[in-house]
Amino acid sequence: MKKVGFIYDDIFLLHEMPPGHPESKERLIAIISALRQTDLWPKLLHLTAKRAEKKDILAVHTSSYYDKVIKFTGYYDADTFISAGSVEAAHYAAGAVLEAVDKCMTGDLHRAFCAVRPPGHHAEANRAMGFCIFNNVAIGARYAQRLGFKKVFIIDFDVHHGNGTQHVFEEDDTVFYFSTHQYPHYPGTGADRERGRGKGTGFTYNIPMPYGSGDKDYFAAFHDFLPVLVRDFSPDIILVSAGYDLHAKDPLAGIRVTNEGIRSIVKSIVLCRSGIPHIFCLEGGYNLASLSESVILTIEELLYRE
Ligand SMILES: [Zn+2]
Repeated sequence: MKKVGFIYDDIFLLHEMPPGHPESKERLIAIISALRQTDLWPKLLHLTAKRAEKKDILAVHTSSYYDKVIKFTGYYDADTFISAGSVEAAHYAAGAVLEAVDKCMTGDLHRAFCAVRPPGHHAEANRAMGFCIFNNVAIGARYAQRLGFKKVFIIDFDVHHGNGTQHVFEEDDTVFYFSTHQYPHYPGTGADRERGRGKGTGFTYNIPMPYGSGDKDYFAAFHDFLPVLVRDFSPDIILVSAGYDLHAKDPLAGIRVTNEGIRSIVKSIVLCRSGIPHIFCLEGGYNLASLSESVILTIEELLYRE
């Protein structure tokens, strides 16, 4: 059995949404409640998040954005709401990934799941976007590099393209960004011709999925394409933007992946260079029942897949 960390903090519940907003604190409450009822819960190493320092965040975001957002409340854009507790929660959401990186560096963990909100992958260097304030996985990637994990492979299976993460690293040949996502769909980026720029050319890989794609399409992406890309890049650590809104029951998109499809995706990911750390970080997923089931089967794979 692998040493698997579960990083969660009640501070994530202080990111309060207006009534009816899909990215609600009920998402994390549902995950924790469902996971506690399984025999997986006592097998996990439970950790709280640390607070990301300003310098960690500025490795990805601009200082003008940081200075603006820490004072901001209200709607930042049409769907990104910032409440009184949101920016503090966002420091800890990024910090959860940093905590996982720390523990992987010392060998206390092999794998980790960060159950965080706000999510991160739409956040651009200079702005909040798409429910995201700080780009948790991108901040984690830069921090991992600072600690000595030189090459980082990011896998993003959220149903939406991680525009923020792609843009942060698209000219970088030390961080690979791989994404599957519904296309065309929000946020509009993620065409297969987007393969990176400058010396980062070839280190971005998008697999756009048409409306209605399902398990077979994802099997091809994660079993035929991903392992070869990871092997050729030879990363020191793998970070995963784990968005469960690709589930057939999710209300925000039109992809038809089942529970078994999600298990197959996670299995393929953890078997990619299984000897290096794998850190999963929650992004989307808005049907509370399928979100909880998806996280549980992810944790099963993290614990038991050798
Ligand atoms: Zn999403």
